[in-house]
Amino acid sequence: MTEGVVRIKRGREKPIRKRHPWVFSGAIAHAENAADGDLVTLVDHKNRFLARGYWNSKSQIQARILSWRDEPIDAGWWRKMLARAIDSRAGLDAGGDAYRLVNAENDFIPGLIVDRYGDWLVLQALTRYIDGQKERIADLLRELTGIENVYERSDVEARAKEGLGPAVGLLRGRMPADLVEISEGARFQVDIARGHKTGFYLDQRENRRALADLVGDRLESTAEPVSLLNIFCYTGGFAVAAGHFGSVRAVNVDSSYAALELAEANFARNGYDAEAHGESAELIQADAFDYLRHCVDEAMTFDFVVLDPPKFARHKGQTQRAARGYKDLNLSAFKLVEEGGYLMTFSCSGAISRELFQKIVFSALADAGREAQIARQLSAAADHPVALTFPEGEYLKGLMLRVY
Ligand code: SAH
Repeated sequence: MTEGVVRIKRGREKPIRKRHPWVFSGAIAHAENAADGDLVTLVDHKNRFLARGYWNSKSQIQARILSWRDEPIDAGWWRKMLARAIDSRAGLDAGGDAYRLVNAENDFIPGLIVDRYGDWLVLQALTRYIDGQKERIADLLRELTGIENVYERSDVEARAKEGLGPAVGLLRGRMPADLVEISEGARFQVDIARGHKTGFYLDQRENRRALADLVGDRLESTAEPVSLLNIFCYTGGFAVAAGHFGSVRAVNVDSSYAALELAEANFARNGYDAEAHGESAELIQADAFDYLRHCVDEAMTFDFVVLDPPKFARHKGQTQRAARGYKDLNLSAFKLVEEGGYLMTFSCSGAISRELFQKIVFSALADAGREAQIARQLSAAADHPVALTFPEGEYLKGLMLRVY
C-alpha cells in the first residue's frame, strides 16, 4: 500500500505523543503522497513512526489521528473501534432507547457521530475521510447493533471547512413513516430528517432528569403547581421532563416555529395540560433576549428557570461577544427566580471554558444583586464521554444554582 507519509516538524510532535488527535498545518514539515480524505502515516523529523490518521489539506486540522499504534486501519480496525464504542454504552442508564453510540474524537474515531433513536441510527460524517467510509460504517453498525435503519444527517457547517457539501438521506433500511418516538422516561417525538443536530439534544438527558428530580422534591412540599420558565425550549425537553412526575406550569420560549410545534406534540403525548392538575404548557415564539426583558419589566417570577442557549462562540475570536450574550441572559434570568428557586444555566460553546462560564454567570449574579449557591455542576450525559486527551470534547457545561 502506498499510504501517504506526513512528517512532523521537530519539536511539534509533543501533542501527538500525548495523544491529542488533531494535527494543525503549522506542525507539518512535509507531506508525501498524501491525498485528501485518505489514510496517512505520521512520522517525526527522524522518520520514526508517530501515529496513523487521515489527511485533508483543505482543513485547518490537516490530519486527525486514528491510532498511535503501527497497525493497519482496515475492516478489522473499524469493527474493533465501533464495537468498543457501542459496547461501552451497554451499562448506560438512558431510561430508554435514545442515546449517542459514537462520540467522534471522544470515542477515538475523529469525525464520526452516531446516535440511536429507537429503531433508527443517525450517522453524521464530519470529515472527508469519514465521508468516504460511511457505507462500511453503516454495514458494521447494522451488524453490531442489530438496528437495520441507518439515516445520514451530514449537514453540519463544519463540513464546509473540509471542502464538503451537505449529505442527507437514507443509507440502509427504511425511512420512518412519520416522526420517531423515543423514550427517556418521558416520551419525545424526534424529527430525524429535519431536527437540530441529529434530531434531539441527547446531551441534556441527565440534566432534564436532574430538573425533574428537583421539581419532584418541590412538589412534595407544596400543593401548588410549580412554575417553570423554559428558555430556548426547542421541542420542550426540560418542561416535558419536569412535568413527568407532577404538576408544572411551564412557559416555553423558542424562536423556531417548527420546534414549538413538536413541543406541543410532546406535551400532549405525555398527558400534559390536564386541567384537573393545574398543569399548563404555554408555547411562545419569541426572541429569548426580548422575552426575558419583557418578563423582567412585568416583574414575573418562577420557581425554576432553564436557560439553554445555542452555541454563541464558534471559535475563540467570538468569546467576548458570546460572553456578553451569556451575561445579558443570565442577568435577566436571575431577576426572575423566586426566592429559594433554581436557575439551570448552560453554555455549549467549546470556546468558553467551564471556569470562564462560571465567571460570566457570577458577574450577572452580582449585577442582579442576588445570592446563589452551586447545587450541582452540570455536563453532557454519560453517553457523551470526553476523552481525557481531548479537552475540546467538553463543550457542554452548566450550573444548577439555588437563588436567594
Ligand atoms: N433545551 C433544549 C435544547 C435547546 S437548543 C432541549 O433540551 O431540547 C437551542 C434552541 O434555541 C434551539 O431550539 C433554537 O431554535 C433556539 N434559539 C436560537 N436562537 C434563539 C433566540 N434568539 N431566541 C429564542 N430561541 C432561540
